[in-house]
Amino acid sequence: MEKRDKIYEGKAKILYTTDNPDLLIQYFKDDATAGNGKKKGTIDEKGIMNNGITCKIFEYLGQNGIPTHLVKMLSEREMLIKKVEIVKIEVIIRNRAAGSLCRNYGVEEGKTLLCPILEFCYKEDKYNDPLMNAYHIKALGIATEQEIEKISAYTFKINELMQKFFAVLKIELIDFKLEFGRYKGEIILADEISPDTCRLWEVGTGVRLDKDRFRNDLGNIKEGYQEVLKRVTGK
Ligand code: UDP
Repeated sequence: MEKRDKIYEGKAKILYTTDNPDLLIQYFKDDATAGNGKKKGTIDEKGIMNNGITCKIFEYLGQNGIPTHLVKMLSEREMLIKKVEIVKIEVIIRNRAAGSLCRNYGVEEGKTLLCPILEFCYKEDKYNDPLMNAYHIKALGIATEQEIEKISAYTFKINELMQKFFAVLKIELIDFKLEFGRYKGEIILADEISPDTCRLWEVGTGVRLDKDRFRNDLGNIKEGYQEVLKRVTGK
């Protein structure tokens, strides 16, 4: 697969065109940001670890009935993907309180939630990714009612699948963020699933194995990602 032009560069990834107009290459960088770009840094080999983790999880979700943009892993840092039109919302599921839920609602970190919380945020950095509900999404023409229903149903299914997947690895899935896209008229899972986009706590010890190590200067940042990669890929 021939890599051609860079068409997009985000905070953690770059997208390149290929000789097939339906496919792109998603390249994972080592750059890390937090607080909507206020904190910047790099995590050595993060791109390699996040590509490995994302490919493995997307493969598992694909085998369990979730359509994804993954075609195949191409190299250490590159994933061949279907070219989608990204739906401009970030979809978050929370199983236990952390991050903005604690900041915004005064909930204690780690509190068990009585049921998972589904949240939508407008994917627009200049407005700080504000929380929105299904009415905002429909009224502003960001997605249709049918698309919102499909995205919600997939997200709850993905939550169940990922909770099972991580439980076996002695990791608790606290919360995570998903992005979806449109491909040939259908909604499919896009972007990545990695310690950049999930909160992952080791069962028993509560050790943070995710980007909170970077956000909160906890040290051993690379080691957290490495541990997740090791457990996810069995290597
Ligand atoms: N998240 C993400 N990208 C974002 C915002 C959040 O991947 O732009 C993930 C984050 O890693 C966490 C979950 O979504 O796993 C919930 O994040 P939260 O709203 O608590 O925000 P934060 O505390 O990261 O500001």
